[in-house]
Amino acid sequence: MMQYYSTNSPDTKVSLKEAVLRGLAPDKGLYMPETIPTLDASFFANIGQKSLPEIGFEVLKPFFCPDIPEETFKTIVQESLNFDIPTVKVNNNIYALELFHGPTLAFKDVGARFMARILSYFAKGRNEEINVLVATSGDTGSAVANGFYKVPGIKVQVLYPKGMVSQVQEKQFTTLGHNITSLEVEGTFDECQRMVKEAFMDTELNEKLVLTSANSINLARLLPQSVYYYYAYAQMQKAGIADDIVFCVPSGNFGNITAGLLTQAMGLPIKRFIAATNINDIVPQYLQTGNYVPAPSKSTVANAMDVGDPSNFVRILDIFASDHNLVKSKIEGIAFTDDEIKAGVRRVDKSFDYVLDPHGATGYLALEKILLNDQIGIFLETAHPAKFPEVIEPAIGRKVDVPLRLQAFMKGEAKNIAIKANLYELKRFLLK
Ligand SMILES: *Cc1c(COP(=O)(O)O)cnc(C)c1O
Repeated sequence: MMQYYSTNSPDTKVSLKEAVLRGLAPDKGLYMPETIPTLDASFFANIGQKSLPEIGFEVLKPFFCPDIPEETFKTIVQESLNFDIPTVKVNNNIYALELFHGPTLAFKDVGARFMARILSYFAKGRNEEINVLVATSGDTGSAVANGFYKVPGIKVQVLYPKGMVSQVQEKQFTTLGHNITSLEVEGTFDECQRMVKEAFMDTELNEKLVLTSANSINLARLLPQSVYYYYAYAQMQKAGIADDIVFCVPSGNFGNITAGLLTQAMGLPIKRFIAATNINDIVPQYLQTGNYVPAPSKSTVANAMDVGDPSNFVRILDIFASDHNLVKSKIEGIAFTDDEIKAGVRRVDKSFDYVLDPHGATGYLALEKILLNDQIGIFLETAHPAKFPEVIEPAIGRKVDVPLRLQAFMKGEAKNIAIKANLYELKRFLLK
């Protein structure tokens, strides 16, 4: 049975259930698995013949079973990974791993759908519902709300800043209903986040309700993200080109790339990683200098990566025992300006007839710049371009095709509850 430790106190171990229900450790550290399991060669020998859920089950089993019985876990994996994650050739030796075929058209669907089902499993057998609180500036709210939608035993409250979330994003969580409630906060995103943090520390709330968060530091969101690295490798193996693969990950909080680094530690034979960022280049700077200097985030066209103090960085340090040279040998970092991102979107559309989103664009551009000719580069296309029409349409000079499932959200009727930006209002609502 796998146990988990906090990055701040490696000697104290907790169960999977505790790590998942807590999210953040009491000492403010992030949970890590006590050992990194390795998969044997036979698993890789015919991985090209395996389906996404089959790979997911094998890869994740050592972390989640037998805490969760194998048969139940198999169903959880199947329900979470119920959409394709294809690799698509963009040009010569550069491929996109399209992570946007899920319900909200972004990679966060994978972690959110999976985590919802893990929480629901742990909620079973207790008579209380689990209340998930999530503050969002857009993407997280839609992925979490849709991932947890109609999942038994769980209620979700999405807090978002009034007037500061794009219409597409707002529709993706305000139109659902059932167990999802949207709270439109008269304040900023930071105030939403502060209210959620205060709620977790509030004695009365915690006595009366079971509260948890669904933010990206939760292990149950992080670990399932490793599956698609294996699946990408499987597709390359099937195509006979699985040697010398370089993964390039558009990064904000560095959860996605952390999941990738874990796969390498588990034995996935890949060459190396590139972390692509926008001008919030804290990690590329660290890689260069060895100094980690967080800064207030700057707003960019790739706004899901506007992070000035990436929360998963401590996990990366933990994996590599804080050895700067070791980290540097595994990850290369590179940052792009808004102008470079927009020009990249335009050029790739014109030259290769492929429409990037602003985040994936940083990944593509990084590969174009530093991939060697005899290597295969795969960048993570983390969201569908139709989610960012205000950036993409001026760049490509035409409307971007909107997938049907996004159109369906736009037709739905938005329902929200307006509250003021303070804990008292949030408590009054939660205890009602
Ligand atoms: C969240 C997000 C990212 C950043 O992922 P991290 O795991 O935080 O590094 C990149 N692109 C999109 C579209 C996102 O929503």
